[in-house]
Amino acid sequence: MSSKDLFSGCDYFQVEELWTEEHRLIRDSIRAWVKKEVSPIIEDYAQNSSFPKQLIKGLGEIGAFGPTIPVKYGGQGLDYISYGIIMQELERGDSGIRSTASVQGSLVMYPIYEYGSEEQRNKYLPKLASGEWMGCFGLTEPDHGSNPGGMITRYKDQGDFVELTGAKMWISNAPIADIALVWAKDENDIIRGIILERGMEGFTTPETHHKWSLRASATGELVMDHVKVPKSNILPNVKGLKGPLSCLNSARFGISWGAIGAAMDCYDTALRYAKQRIQFGKPIAGFQLQQKKLAEMITEITKAQLMVWRLGVLKNEGRANPSQISMAKRNSVEIASQITREARQILGGMGITGEYSVMRHMMNLESVLTYEGTHDIHLLITGMDITGLDAFK
Ligand SMILES: Cc1cc2nc3c(=O)[nH]c(=O)nc-3n(C[C@H](O)[C@H](O)[C@H](O)COP(=O)(O)OP(=O)(O)OC[C@H]3O[C@@H](n4cnc5c(N)ncnc54)[C@H](O)[C@@H]3O)c2cc1C
Repeated sequence: MSSKDLFSGCDYFQVEELWTEEHRLIRDSIRAWVKKEVSPIIEDYAQNSSFPKQLIKGLGEIGAFGPTIPVKYGGQGLDYISYGIIMQELERGDSGIRSTASVQGSLVMYPIYEYGSEEQRNKYLPKLASGEWMGCFGLTEPDHGSNPGGMITRYKDQGDFVELTGAKMWISNAPIADIALVWAKDENDIIRGIILERGMEGFTTPETHHKWSLRASATGELVMDHVKVPKSNILPNVKGLKGPLSCLNSARFGISWGAIGAAMDCYDTALRYAKQRIQFGKPIAGFQLQQKKLAEMITEITKAQLMVWRLGVLKNEGRANPSQISMAKRNSVEIASQITREARQILGGMGITGEYSVMRHMMNLESVLTYEGTHDIHLLITGMDITGLDAFK
């Protein structure tokens, strides 16, 4: 249904000159893959609220799953700027496809690599990297979203195994996942990460329907009814909220790049449309009001590109702190959301159709604004960092 993908990049300040040659090659290869595999089909899948499962193998082949994971475990051993570029290019296509890759890489592979045993790394990482297995990350519960520390999902030590009971909600990839990394508390309220495998008795993953956002991404629940899990499936090297929060840091970093991809696509679409659409005898791009919109879009995109590039440098050096990542995630998603709305207006009535990607990006970003820490929560993180005062409670 969608028009041909004519995107040709968006780099007003030559920020990409700050990248390495390898970074630019990665951009080119992921962009080409998105144009060939995602753009022609994504609108129909989003309209039908269905996840294009056939893309999983290709996502594995282009290295979108866990690109920073070492090669010996099936990853690419790439740096964080490469990871960001991959997320940007995927989200330029669709936030749902980027979400699938983010969850697999940052929320499932990262904790298994960082906190798992050598046996767990060898068992799961290569299969997750290739896409042979899909994973999901279960932190949010029906009554505990922004405050995950309040979770009530529990596991009990039963000798050789643990017994897990509880429910997780809003879980990306849940309906298609082969494994789920679930965060749960023991009798002493200590949070641990536990790997569940599809087929374990008492474990189900019902799909969440009727979403108006991220329609091409599969979302579901994780329902655990006295699931018996071998103790060898517990991540041995992390305890407490630090475990899930460190995964979210990695995923939020990816989102800070990814959301700019959606913004770039909307700017590019709106600019092309404005130059071609004639009203009152001239292209609408010639009217000052439309130029204001377009000029502000490219200004915000440029500022965000510089911010995430610097964040990438800090992350590569191990110096990016969680508050900086929060600021970048919040800013990128905010500017991208505003850009989708302005672009939608520039396209007039055509902007609400699936003929263009703009309205799909707009609706997708509503989820991106909320997940991995809401817009408000990231502001509170910045507020706490600069004042030293906690305004959460
Ligand atoms: C499509 C989608 C996919 C998702 N995928 C996953 C996933 O894969 N895994 C996973 O674990 N979770 C996932 N989530 C869940 C997501 O992370 C939560 O929705 C998010 O953390 C917010 O939680 P909540 O929806 O319960 O909102 P709430 O926490 O109830 O927040 C509601 C509102 O209150 C505000 N608020 C909350 N606390 C405060 C405060 N202290 N001060 C000021 N304002 C506050 C929030 O900012 C928000 O505006 C997903 C969500 C969506 C929509």
